[in-house]
Amino acid sequence: MKKPVKLLNELSKPGRRACSLPASDVPEASEKIPEKFARKEDAALPEVSEVDLIRHFTRLSQLNYAVDVGFYPLGSCTMKYNPKVNERLSRLPGFLNLHPYQHKDLAQGALELMYGLKEMLCEITGMDELTLQPAAGAHGEMTGLMVIKAALEHRGEKKRTKIIVPDSAHGTNPASATMAGFEVLVVTSDERGNVDVENLKSLMSDEVAGIMLTNPNTLGLFEERILEIAKIIHDAGGLLYYDGANLNANLGIARPGDMGFDVVHLNLHKTFSTPHGGGGPGSGPIGVKEELAPFLPKPVIVKEGNSYRFDYDRPLSIGKVRSFYGNFNVMVRAYAYIMTMGSEGLRRVAEDAVLNANYLLERVRENFVLPFDRRCKHEFVISGSRQKKENGVTTLDMVKRLIDYGFHPPTVYFPLVVPEAMMVEPNETESIEELDAFSEALNAIAEEARKDPELVKNSPKTTPVTRLDEVTAAKRPVVTWITEEE
Ligand SMILES: *Cc1c(COP(=O)(O)O)cnc(C)c1O
Repeated sequence: MKKPVKLLNELSKPGRRACSLPASDVPEASEKIPEKFARKEDAALPEVSEVDLIRHFTRLSQLNYAVDVGFYPLGSCTMKYNPKVNERLSRLPGFLNLHPYQHKDLAQGALELMYGLKEMLCEITGMDELTLQPAAGAHGEMTGLMVIKAALEHRGEKKRTKIIVPDSAHGTNPASATMAGFEVLVVTSDERGNVDVENLKSLMSDEVAGIMLTNPNTLGLFEERILEIAKIIHDAGGLLYYDGANLNANLGIARPGDMGFDVVHLNLHKTFSTPHGGGGPGSGPIGVKEELAPFLPKPVIVKEGNSYRFDYDRPLSIGKVRSFYGNFNVMVRAYAYIMTMGSEGLRRVAEDAVLNANYLLERVRENFVLPFDRRCKHEFVISGSRQKKENGVTTLDMVKRLIDYGFHPPTVYFPLVVPEAMMVEPNETESIEELDAFSEALNAIAEEARKDPELVKNSPKTTPVTRLDEVTAAKRPVVTWITEEE
């Protein structure tokens, strides 16, 4: 278990300084700050020595949990360890210092990389054309839906204004559909955790523009009837959108393009070697089938002979969705990752991610409720509803206790269709020892919930602050030093 960290409360002591500057020998300016703006008293800043200052911030930095510190089982997020060599490559001076207005003749290497990445991502997803412009998954979703809208309007089908989204969907799906001007229809899940096909049929009409799906879905389960679903949507004149934020389970094994999807977005900052979290920068490319290619954002990168250029002559394009061409350095990492892994390596990623998730599930299944007892893909969802009912201990209590065992909590209370949900994604980069340690911690907490529920309910014990008001912490974060008077 982690040792509790002791934080000094108030380091400030009157008169202490972290630097000593010689007296100024610069003559005072003749023009002074107008009296009414001039400070009358010294600013209320902390007064500390250099050593106190350095130790304070270093100590704070050590309180951060990170993938480079330990296991981060956040479901639907793919918090995997990424090879450091890809970081180094994205910082090569030729890539790092390139200006977006650099003439194309002097940026052929960068254009070749973008073109190559686009080709490889098309191959991985089974798509025909792809844009690297969107800066995040949700941004890709909105771009993809705008493309769908433009394509349907081009077909002369203006009244297709509805998008179907499953009740297990990631929250960005209905949000993006709404932002792109669609109305959202919710399709329910069946008792195996799949889209309820009968319910889907009942929603179909000539007003449906399409469906947004994740496969494996957010329950970590593969949509067993995906080909049937694709047929139902296509037969009714709609299009299929694939949320490929987490492609870990499919790499080199299954392609959305072969399942019948027309549009797909990827999160390079989950699956393809850019750390996810901390707010970016990210990259959410979208790939499309031939029919939709003319509507992609412009410019599109094209190859002519042995050279590359941006093509702006795209009359049907929805236009630009971002300044310049997207987050280039994220593309460099993805390119380096795919090239170093190779097609065999990528397939291994998927196999190991799925194996790790199933191994972990087997190790904890006895102590938790399994809403859907099936083989999972890269992640699984269990429920703390038994502990809540029998011991009055919630999922939130149990994952807070995990912090005392030195682990970052998994995603909780999502997907919404599972009460007291815990969504765990171990991913391919964790060792069997780490998975064992994590499952032992979860099982120990289930035991504690039975024997000593108060212990679990009052956790964590080892952090400087225990339970935060998470809503206030997110909406009104206090990240600066505040004097007592305030
Ligand atoms: C992460 C995620 C998204 C959104 O990606 P952002 O880059 O955070 O906008 C969308 N769908 C699923 C399934 C995800 O896991």
